[in-house]
Amino acid sequence: MFVHLHLHTPFSFLDAVSTINELVQRAADFEMPGLAMTDHNNLSGAVQFHKACCQAGVKPIIGAEVTTESGHHLTLLAKSRVGYANLCQLLSEAHLSNERSHPQATDQMLREYAEDIIALSGCWHSEVFSLACERRYAQAEKAMAKYRDIFGPDDFYVELQEKLYPRQHATDKALAEIAEKLRVPVVATGNVHYADESQYKVQDVLTCVRTLTTVDEPHPERKINAEFYFKSPRQMAELFCWAPEAVANTLRIAEQCQEYELSDDRYLPRFDTNGCKPTQLLRRLTYEGAHQRYKRLNAKISRRLEHELDIIEQLGFADYFLEVWDVAREARRRGIRYAGRGSAADSAVAYCLYITDVDAVARNLSFERFINPERGDNLPDIDIDFDARYRDDIADYVTRKYGEDKVATVCTFQTYHARGAIRDLAKALGFPLEEIHRLAKLMPHINADGIEQAFDHFPELRDSRLPLYKYRQLFELCSQAAGLPRHIGTHLGGVIISGQPLNTISPIQEAAKGCRIIQFDKVDVEDLRLLKLDLLCLRMLSAVQDTVTTTPQQLDFNTIPLDDKDTYKLLNSAETAGAFQLESPAQRNLQSRLQADNIEDIVASVALIRPGPIKGNMVEPFLARRHGREPLAYVDPRLEEILKDTYGVVLFQEQVIEIAVRIAGFTGGEADQLRRALTHHRDKDKMQAIGKGFIRKAMQRGCTQQVAQTIFSYIEGYAGYGFCEAHAAAFGDTGYKTTYLLTHYPAYFYAALLSNQPMGYFPPHTLINEAKRRGIRVLGPDVNHSQVSFTVEDGAIRVGLKQVKEMPETLLGQIVRGQPYSNLYEFMRQAKTPANVARNLALCGAFDCFDNNRRRVLWQLGAFRPGQQAQLDLDQVCELQDIEDFTDQEKCCHEWGVLGLSPTWHPLQFVRPKLVREGVLTAQQIKQQRPAGAVKVAGLLIRPHRPPTRSGRTVVFFTLEDETGLIDVTVFQNVYEQYGKEIFSSSVLLVEGHLDHRGTASIIADRIEKLS
Ligand SMILES: [Zn+2]
Ligand SMILES: [Zn+2]
Repeated sequence: MFVHLHLHTPFSFLDAVSTINELVQRAADFEMPGLAMTDHNNLSGAVQFHKACCQAGVKPIIGAEVTTESGHHLTLLAKSRVGYANLCQLLSEAHLSNERSHPQATDQMLREYAEDIIALSGCWHSEVFSLACERRYAQAEKAMAKYRDIFGPDDFYVELQEKLYPRQHATDKALAEIAEKLRVPVVATGNVHYADESQYKVQDVLTCVRTLTTVDEPHPERKINAEFYFKSPRQMAELFCWAPEAVANTLRIAEQCQEYELSDDRYLPRFDTNGCKPTQLLRRLTYEGAHQRYKRLNAKISRRLEHELDIIEQLGFADYFLEVWDVAREARRRGIRYAGRGSAADSAVAYCLYITDVDAVARNLSFERFINPERGDNLPDIDIDFDARYRDDIADYVTRKYGEDKVATVCTFQTYHARGAIRDLAKALGFPLEEIHRLAKLMPHINADGIEQAFDHFPELRDSRLPLYKYRQLFELCSQAAGLPRHIGTHLGGVIISGQPLNTISPIQEAAKGCRIIQFDKVDVEDLRLLKLDLLCLRMLSAVQDTVTTTPQQLDFNTIPLDDKDTYKLLNSAETAGAFQLESPAQRNLQSRLQADNIEDIVASVALIRPGPIKGNMVEPFLARRHGREPLAYVDPRLEEILKDTYGVVLFQEQVIEIAVRIAGFTGGEADQLRRALTHHRDKDKMQAIGKGFIRKAMQRGCTQQVAQTIFSYIEGYAGYGFCEAHAAAFGDTGYKTTYLLTHYPAYFYAALLSNQPMGYFPPHTLINEAKRRGIRVLGPDVNHSQVSFTVEDGAIRVGLKQVKEMPETLLGQIVRGQPYSNLYEFMRQAKTPANVARNLALCGAFDCFDNNRRRVLWQLGAFRPGQQAQLDLDQVCELQDIEDFTDQEKCCHEWGVLGLSPTWHPLQFVRPKLVREGVLTAQQIKQQRPAGAVKVAGLLIRPHRPPTRSGRTVVFFTLEDETGLIDVTVFQNVYEQYGKEIFSSSVLLVEGHLDHRGTASIIADRIEKLS
């Protein structure tokens, strides 16, 4: 028998290519009693590996291949939980005390964390092996003795690998001899990098990706044969027939390693309550908040709060609530705008603690959707959005409060999809960069293992005339790399707060953006039972903040009236580009048909335009009942109260829970289980079993069988398509209120949106165009009048200087502080502007205030000495009276190049006369005239996309922007088949089609043409 003790999972990043499940399955197939994982300098695979091994009945041994001070490799295995903690601390120190992504463990560190660790001398790149390979046997012996002394005579082994490399067998033999002399045991390892021999090629190509070489270039990291696969015990015994004890020792080591759990309830942090019980403090704060929120508490509210507090206490989550309360309080104290999102808004306690702004009692939201007492092992998950600019300040506050050793960010793993795989692998295979770029750009967002099939499926690929035969091998390799993690990254929001030093739970490393991350992602973190707080950036909150602080009137966003007629009018007109969650073509189309007149309609809208409800066909019945075209009858009067806000349609997850509780007498927890079952398992037998239970219970409570069956068919039909109402309520509220800003303070709101890019659905030029369409003047950048960001000037929007391409951050403040400048020379002298920036300023008209002939300004700039910094050279200034300025079209082009938008012109304006001759209508004409029959429209192409559809057929949606507004276009499959290539490779399109009778200014395409 044999146990693999040196094995790489995909978390060795670009060095190993078999999934953890594949590898563990091999071990189980060979009936190995245990299996070790040893990735390079990380434990990122540990949680998954532990889980997979336990499921397969294989003992997991967690270890790592660490890099030492001298750059050599050393294999370490944890014998116990203590050894695991030591490994975590060792790796943390190796990472944090060295340059990022070059971790190194010193001998000192190895000594410090040697307890309960078994060390194997390592691979071809180890200190011991490389010395012996160079026949420096005395030094090899010295190194061996050093490691034996560090780890102890029982816990250090000389590793023999037999990779059939030149000189390896001789070196292994020499090593075995020295080991015997020093009484150090030997051990045979496989140094596994893939499960199957056939994966050799993809491992090699990924090594090239990692080492930034191509397959034509040699590199010491590249393996020279395919011997690094998962060999069987028999193969290993044969390879090591000359050293049977090396094989036997693998079992001895596996036996010495204990099994232990990685998760622990003691990881949860305690909140410092100054001696009082956390539950008492939580109760007090909740009731204080309740009195502020509700003014007067009635029995219903008190009952609800007690119910929630009971469950929170029972599950031991009081500390968690206090921790989140504290974060929200700190944000309020600093005046940082925030909003709780997600299912946390199902909690009245969270509402009273000012964590969320949705009144769960008034909305009758079921708390069990958020915390289900019957699934107490799941930690609650609270997400809070912050004004993007200050989110990191809040994260810093948390770090200071709980200590640097107890707070870190969750990591993410970037995995290979089609585009990324093509970019990396094609480069390693030596394809020219331009070709790679073209190929990758054309690729839709698909998995890396579906590229070849995609050529049949997607017209834009099929009609691309790409020579498929040339790429066969590339696509085959991509498909083998599909889903492999490429590198470790930083999660945008997830902050871990631990009750114990984090470096005993996970290795800690520094991320590219400077913060500390653990080596586990958000799924692993849940399994570990680490507490995660999602502190997210939401740029819309920054835009809201900017709007309310710049409008001349005092404006309180929280108390914006929810029944404002003009706001609903704007929503009904579907001209809501810029509004939060209510601006996409699908959403605007819904709004024009829904004709919303109350906030509940908006909350439902947010939930309706989602893949689930669209696939589940909820939109049409909802609209039909909303407008009375379908009768609203309830088979049971108790349903009315639950479903009246959504016109009898089961749209929300909370409604399913309510129905199960009220009709069938489920407990809240049981009802949530039912919801989850419907969401996750859609197999028929299970559904039937659930249905029987529901119907039986409903009948016991007085329903007739028929009624019970009908009600179950409602929630069955819903099967997982529904949406969390609490989340929809939170987003719907912000959506409505931002529409209110768009209605009443459009200039301020557009300026705020433009200042906080990138965000939202539309690019800046569309927002500018929309502002102009609504009669708001847009003023170009101006070195004397522009501020850093977009501002409002006498009711007009002034483009900010940071919109100018290549503008250095530091220069912005300097320019603004020096205003006003009396002429170009003064500006150049004072603001010390680099030549490229000065040129951009001239091209976008920022110097028009000095001289509105832009070409002449460029000539004048030429008189400044070239180089990094423009300097005045008066001798060379000549008179440039007769230079002719650029044409408007040229100016527009320059402005797009420099600003990404044009304050003055729209590119379509210049071709409009030609378009008029060809009978092309404008967006405005379409909207006003609503012509019957065929129409032609043209515009800039915005966001072509293919959302999932109910029928499974492809439908492409995009928006065209012309100088008068927006036209939404729908392309059905047959037309897409013909014109897919045009849609996905052009920027300006001409579309022939007919008006969609549903919704405003929406065209169904019949023919599409590139407009050049
Ligand atoms: Zn190695
Ligand atoms: Zn290795």
